[in-house]
Amino acid sequence: MRLGVRMVLGAAAAALLAACSGPAADKSAGKEGGAPADAGVVNLYTARHYDSDTQIYEAFTKKTGIKVRRIEAPGPQLIERMKAEGDASPADVLVVADGGVMGLAAEAGLLQPNPSAEVKRLVDGHLRDERDLWAAVSRRARVIAYDSTKVKPEEVDTYEELASPRFKGKLCVRNADNPYNLSLLSALIERWGPEKALTWAKAVVANMARAPQGGDIDQIKAVGAGQCEVAITNSYYYLRLVANGDEVTKKVLLAWPSIDGRGAHVNVSGAGIAKNAPNRDNAVKFIEFMLSPEAQAIFANVTNEFPVVKGTRMPERVAAFADRPADPLPVSRYGARQGEAQRVFEEAGWR
Ligand code: FE
Repeated sequence: MRLGVRMVLGAAAAALLAACSGPAADKSAGKEGGAPADAGVVNLYTARHYDSDTQIYEAFTKKTGIKVRRIEAPGPQLIERMKAEGDASPADVLVVADGGVMGLAAEAGLLQPNPSAEVKRLVDGHLRDERDLWAAVSRRARVIAYDSTKVKPEEVDTYEELASPRFKGKLCVRNADNPYNLSLLSALIERWGPEKALTWAKAVVANMARAPQGGDIDQIKAVGAGQCEVAITNSYYYLRLVANGDEVTKKVLLAWPSIDGRGAHVNVSGAGIAKNAPNRDNAVKFIEFMLSPEAQAIFANVTNEFPVVKGTRMPERVAAFADRPADPLPVSRYGARQGEAQRVFEEAGWR
């Protein structure tokens, strides 16, 4: 809402400027037919919902003088909004806490290549879109929380084991439309093929202790409460409970499963420059800042995510997992398999 009002004011100001100083001022108003440019602003469309991000925006503004105007909404909604806005979209940067949804934005033609050499230098190739339409800014593993009084770590060191009869009626997990689950299944389809992935998904459904419900924290708490013995969760939700000294983390531990010996499924938050970004230079600066030592440390400290940039300072609890083996599947593959993952979930009866 607030952005909408400011946008209108911005457009009015640009029109006034154009009227006063003729065609030269028109150029500063961005490309023809596009949203007006504002040298002191970056317009951010973000699906992230974490306290770390406001700290990062403040640090960015302090360092560069560029204000961050943001719209927060779930990734798929932001994509629809950008599509509807078309060439006139005020969006400069899109940030989504899921590689699959970033991939969908790239496929929809909503992003442009990031020209930054710094981004290429700092982010490993498999953590960037091949065309540099977006790059990871933080990492998070989708792994297994388990009841250490009932489950041995070697029983949960692969994703296959979640489908074992050993866990019949003992597994908790959230619903199938959740982007984190869709990206996990996309990765498994990529590595195993759709048939094995379907067999796995069916067996996981058969193992569920209850119908999918709640978020990842709810799954971990359900393990703590004895409703299930194993649960699928993103690493940072568990590490947040550790950071808060939550009792549940005494009994519930985090396992680090592997896909065919390659390591765990690691998803990312990604950032890309919008196709018609009115403030492209600021967009580049903003994404580079998200990869700065300062911002990377904020992701690790506040959100308990794993940094993308090597050498980042991070708390002990995060460092304990950050460098564990991670499947180096190119992140752009998650988006490519989203539709297939949806069909597999449906056929498996995972709601
Ligand atoms: Fe999350």
